[in-house]
Amino acid sequence: MGNLKQDWSQYPVTALLIDDQQSVTKSIQKLLKHTEHIRLYTCNTPTDAIDDILSIGPTVILLDIHMPIMDGFSILKQLQQNEIIKNIPTIILTIDASIETKKKAFMLGANDYLIKTPDKTELTLRLRYHTKAYIDHLERESTLRILQEKKSELKSLVKKLQISSYQDSLTLVANRRAFDEAFEREWSRAMRETSPLSLVFIDLDYFKQYNDFYGHLAGDDCLKEVAQTLKNISQRPTDLFARYGGEEFVLLLPNTDATGAIHIAEKLRRKVMALNLEHQASKVCDFVTISLGIATTIPMIKHQPRDFIHGADRALYTAKKQGRNQVVCKSI
Ligand code: GH3
Ligand code: MG
Ligand code: MG
Repeated sequence: MGNLKQDWSQYPVTALLIDDQQSVTKSIQKLLKHTEHIRLYTCNTPTDAIDDILSIGPTVILLDIHMPIMDGFSILKQLQQNEIIKNIPTIILTIDASIETKKKAFMLGANDYLIKTPDKTELTLRLRYHTKAYIDHLERESTLRILQEKKSELKSLVKKLQISSYQDSLTLVANRRAFDEAFEREWSRAMRETSPLSLVFIDLDYFKQYNDFYGHLAGDDCLKEVAQTLKNISQRPTDLFARYGGEEFVLLLPNTDATGAIHIAEKLRRKVMALNLEHQASKVCDFVTISLGIATTIPMIKHQPRDFIHGADRALYTAKKQGRNQVVCKSI
């Protein structure tokens, strides 16, 4: 046989006896007087029972059935309706041994049933057993709550990480990785749907000189401002503005032909001019300007995506060569 001895100190009993008869409460008090780890509270006024339960916080309730004004059944009903106390085990303690009363009590949520006056050992064991079950239940609930909290913390962390892995940390716009993935997706989609796809390459003019003249930190601020200004200009949810690298940005425009892309690119160019960011070292303008190269195509199997990207890059190169602060478009 294993060790049957249970360490009850881990499960201290706080019992509340609800019974209108003082003689009963006295005899139960006497019965439990010298038992270890059991504390007994009594309530002789059934109408105070719920308030007493809430203030005492018992681990087990002993409840009489036949009482004036408010009987044990209605206390059981009230217990069940209260989220805080509905799980406290309730032992019915009554002289009524009829099967009808037993049935009704259990149906209303009672956990156990004892006939008055119980044997001391039996009463003690049942109080300890229900207390242990209740404390174990509370521990499981709190573990579950902690687990749920951790789960939602983890969820928001994963979300944050997902966002940051697709975001450029300096300018807070989409990064190269976000662009690469979107480009692959949109390229395939345009091929499936035989719809036009446009790509705009955007490069700040004389930006090396900007850094040399105003310092690298001012250069960073300038990049941030230009990026934040340009990111919301195209409106469709599938459009993507991203930092391609260094002082170069890209704007991917699905379902957009050359005319549409030129229109948007011109808007970007004018928007940067309108920022009036002083650039004394520029050879084209007193303010920061951008050059833009566009490639437009309806992708086909024979096309290479990299040739298309290269096409936008070449258009940008032409824009630079032709004097900067302008838009050049190449249909592939
Ligand atoms: P162009 O008009 O032909 O484009 O001339 P450019 O000077 O802009 O071109 P170039 O490619 O020679 O220089 C790009 C400069 O952009 C070089 C680098 O100092 C600057 N740059 C790239 N990334 C960053 C960045 O994150 N912060 C800052 N402040 N500068 C950057
Ligand atoms: Mg460049
Ligand atoms: Mg440049």
